[in-house]
Amino acid sequence: MAVDLNNYVASIPDYPEKGIIFRDLSPLMADGEAYRQATDRIVQFAKDKNVDMIVGPEARGFIVGCPVAYELGVGFAPARKKGKLPRETVSAQYSLEYGVSELFLHKDAVKPGQRVLVTDDLLATGGTIGATIDLVEQLGGTVVGCAFLIELKDLKGRSKLKGYDVLTLMEY
Ligand code: 5GP
Repeated sequence: MAVDLNNYVASIPDYPEKGIIFRDLSPLMADGEAYRQATDRIVQFAKDKNVDMIVGPEARGFIVGCPVAYELGVGFAPARKKGKLPRETVSAQYSLEYGVSELFLHKDAVKPGQRVLVTDDLLATGGTIGATIDLVEQLGGTVVGCAFLIELKDLKGRSKLKGYDVLTLMEY
């Protein structure tokens, strides 16, 4: 029976700062059945897309993407913050509320022409996933889908993903 994934999201007021409601997905990830059902829904979304590779940003993009990669029988490449990847990388910057941040991907993580699914736990402004897509495209990959557990509608991240096939399992 399908579980209501919303029952596995903890909403934390005033975290990390006053006025923000943080959506904590650790209850979902801690529950074997809920985590499996969420993973299965992303696998279904990806199944007919001929995905070659999954790329997700640290750290919760790994938790969402890796079981999907395992199930599809494809590889996973981590997009990481500065100083974490030991070999040659490409990089992409994105805006935060105050300042900028940067993500990196190994140059050989995606081969030209590969079909890539990008994953993260949550879509807010779209900055993080936008940088992740940029990295994949710099390497000649084609992003065939973007999958998230949660979308925060008010932050309009989806408007940055026009032209991409986007799956979100819950909306807040
Ligand atoms: P964006 O770059 O779309 O503005 O923010 C999304 C990124 O920030 C994701 O990598 C996500 O993990 C993190 N994030 C922002 N707000 C939340 C939140 O309320 N809950 C969780 N779990 N992650 C968040």
